[in-house]
Amino acid sequence: MATDLQIAVHKVVSLNPATGEVLREFECANESDVRAAVARARTAQVGWAELGIQRRIAVIREFQRRLHARKSEIAALITREAGKPLAEALVTEVLVVLDTARFLIDNAWRLLHDEPVPHGNLATKLKSGRLVREPYGVIGIISPWNYPFSIPATETLVALVAGNAVVLKPSELTPLVAMELASLLHAAGVPEDVFQVVVGEGAAGAALIHSPIDKLVFTGSVATGKRIAVAAAERLLPVVLELGGKDPMLVLDDADVDVASSAAVWGAFVNAGQACLSVERCYVHRSLYSPFVEACAAKTKQLRVGNGMEPNTDMGPMIHERQLRIVEAHVEDAKARGARVLAGGSRYPELGANFYRPTILADVTHQMKIMQEETFGPVLPVMAFADDDEAVRLANDSEYGLAASVWTRDAARGERLARRIHTGTAMVNDVISCFGISEAPHGGVKASGIGRTHGRFGLDEMVRVKYLDTDRMPGIKKVWWYGYGERFTRQMEGFLDMQFARGMGTRLRGALRAAGVYRRKQL
Ligand code: NAD
Repeated sequence: MATDLQIAVHKVVSLNPATGEVLREFECANESDVRAAVARARTAQVGWAELGIQRRIAVIREFQRRLHARKSEIAALITREAGKPLAEALVTEVLVVLDTARFLIDNAWRLLHDEPVPHGNLATKLKSGRLVREPYGVIGIISPWNYPFSIPATETLVALVAGNAVVLKPSELTPLVAMELASLLHAAGVPEDVFQVVVGEGAAGAALIHSPIDKLVFTGSVATGKRIAVAAAERLLPVVLELGGKDPMLVLDDADVDVASSAAVWGAFVNAGQACLSVERCYVHRSLYSPFVEACAAKTKQLRVGNGMEPNTDMGPMIHERQLRIVEAHVEDAKARGARVLAGGSRYPELGANFYRPTILADVTHQMKIMQEETFGPVLPVMAFADDDEAVRLANDSEYGLAASVWTRDAARGERLARRIHTGTAMVNDVISCFGISEAPHGGVKASGIGRTHGRFGLDEMVRVKYLDTDRMPGIKKVWWYGYGERFTRQMEGFLDMQFARGMGTRLRGALRAAGVYRRKQL
């Protein structure tokens, strides 16, 4: 009988979203392909872990060297398969990965090697403790199409440096970039079975979750993330979930309108708005509202939309018809409820099937889908607020909690507000660039996910922490190993007083009472 995990043999077709050109076809991995990949990864991981951190870092260094040497070629491939302008492929994908490698080369040894745990409790002073960071084994990574290189590559590098093997299931829309990541890693010295790619649709991802991986790092939509969390719970599979966002931008009454409007336009339209950290909602103090929306509209009208391979293109196509339909539905809903379109507002068929005009919507309200659901497209809805408290309330009125930004000339005021917004990241006077800071943890709260990737906390997600405890006096029995009785209880009370009583005299008396503790008959 067929199970829901059985996958019909079919193909995944990689397309150029700007032109519709077929780039390559791949046969989908079926359930047994996925299981076989995980089995090979498990065997190969042992030798990879045994290499030690320093030698794994050397492989990461070689990967970095090779990626740097091929930066333009890799950027062009990303643009061909995902549509974003070449400049963005270089800066938001290749640069981010090069810098993650730099972070790991500089810090992985310090963050992964054994760490002493000094004991404060006098009862355990004679023992030495250490934290040992052990790789999980096989990490499954399921990734989306919007950053087809930087998302799986940053997650993979962190997993690998910690001694894990990785099986990656990339988005069915961007398998070519994932295959290129594999060839770069293999050429740098990562054994073929230590990093493998299984190409397929959601069913291949589901097969990966049900295979014997040790941890899953998933990046994608909230809907898929919830399904994955349920499947993972059944087998207590640890997961990191990097999910969607509805990131608010708060422009306070003392903000620089020119700077903030440029940030809003870039933050909303970079990657055609298909970024988890996109500015999805903009709130502007009512005293600045009119000049701000006018500046946004004027700057938006100057954007050059087209094929990302053209060096002057500012914004490329969207990835797929299904994304365009969501954008259209949100814009139509907003228009029907009274929003004003100040720029764009429709598809761009002259350029191709997947193009949508960068769109500015004014006079939006929180009843509109555009302010509640993730749009993931080139739309900037702008709403006015009366004071800081209202701005924070509106920012927090969302099921999402990935990132937010506050714009003000007063950094201290900005930070005070940023602390009140419920998100994994809050930036003052910048948008999105937090993803390019390799030291910064990335991840969300509320429906935006669980766990962190990037930085020290991302590395922590890739290891199991074992506490290793060694007694330095192996010939001595512990005082608490039986021999209980009235006298022992008194002695223990004295011991507790010695450590925790407030007055000096009480502590001293406690020490004297505790001193008799060894003169007992034990088992
Ligand atoms: P998606 O959820 O449709 O797909 C993501 C991946 O999951 C793909 O590889 C897909 O094949 C796979 N998948 C689908 N169904 C599955 C199932 N049942 N079991 C296992 N795997 C399955 O998301 P998408 O459209 O590729 O990406 C866009 C979404 O990703 C947006 O919501 C965006 O906000 C989010 N995203 C989040 C971050 C972040 O860091 N928080 C980064 C990028 C994108």
